Amino acid sequence: DSIVTLIDVEKSFGKNKVVKKMNIEIKEGEFLTLLGPSGCGKTTTLRMIAGFEEASSGIIMVQGESIEDKEPFEREVNTVFQNYALFPHMSVFDNIGYALKIRKKPKNEITKRVNEMLDLIQLKGYENRKPDALSGGQKQRVAIARALINNPKVLLLDEPLGALDLKLRKQMQVELKRLQKKLGITFIYVTHDQEEALTMSDRIAIMNEGVIEQLATPSEIYDRPITKFVAGFIGESNIFDGKVIEVHDEILVIENSAGTIMAKGSGFKVGEIVHVSIRPEYVKVSIDPVEGFNLKGTVRDFLYMGTVVNTVIDLKDNTEIKYSRFEKDDDFKERDSVNIYWNPEKAVVIK
Ligand code: ADP
Ligand code: MG
Repeated sequence: DSIVTLIDVEKSFGKNKVVKKMNIEIKEGEFLTLLGPSGCGKTTTLRMIAGFEEASSGIIMVQGESIEDKEPFEREVNTVFQNYALFPHMSVFDNIGYALKIRKKPKNEITKRVNEMLDLIQLKGYENRKPDALSGGQKQRVAIARALINNPKVLLLDEPLGALDLKLRKQMQVELKRLQKKLGITFIYVTHDQEEALTMSDRIAIMNEGVIEQLATPSEIYDRPITKFVAGFIGESNIFDGKVIEVHDEILVIENSAGTIMAKGSGFKVGEIVHVSIRPEYVKVSIDPVEGFNLKGTVRDFLYMGTVVNTVIDLKDNTEIKYSRFEKDDDFKERDSVNIYWNPEKAVVIK
């Protein structure tokens, strides 16, 4: 039931390999997001799936067929770009109907489909306007309708909301997700905005320098990042370097230059050098020492962030740890000496 499959796909521009050994199986009806910093290869990957760019090696299949065997207009895949790419001289109606017109569909069929699309994107009454007379959000809706009109199996979206202001972007995120569910179309969505990825996706592929570092559901990615890059890229994390000194089933005791801590991980051995990621909201603080932990610090300051209070604690090796609360812990003041601990299950050991 995989609709798009990438097998060992690579892409080089000259000597520069920008996509490396990429393997993904995208399920029918899935909302899959490629998330990563600028330049990590997201657009290149999308362009290869669209057939605008040829892979240097590897195989890309859509519905079990290699895309190389098909001309771009025969493919079951359409693309929506960040800059909308509407035809400026054409009306909304003609922009939306374009794909059917070039396929020489009968006029009454085009009119019927365009009207369905106008309904879908809630722009009835705008059909005679030119793109210039639309807002950013309206232009993007027209671009989406234009890409959906010939019932593609897969829609590729490259930072489609990137040009919109924050409020409109949030609103369009909800609309797009609703549209995708309603139509049951597979979306492959590119963004560098982690919050957007976490709220919209069924699964997220986190990319870094042409490599997928983790491919998992938003909650798995948030709670169990498997690389240091993922832990640092998604949400906020405290990351410690250390050495495994004891292994108890999946809970490890780790020695760091600031003290001893515990975290969850499997497949690690005593003596191994690892990283530990702990989210600020899981960090706890106590005046008395806590068994298994020997991590002491000095409260530096409290930062009021509206609903949460972020606290920074200085550790003895001149590093710091952040923790966050909905309310300030009144037990502690700046400069207090405290013990830091957490539920070991909440901290992740990473290679
Ligand atoms: P992203 O969309 O994640 O920001 P891109 O896929 O656009 O990243 O680019 C990945 C890398 O490939 C970048 O280093 C970019 O400069 C390079 N690149 C993209 N397209 C080309 C091209 N046509 N020729 C040469 N280099 C390119
Ligand atoms: Mg890009």
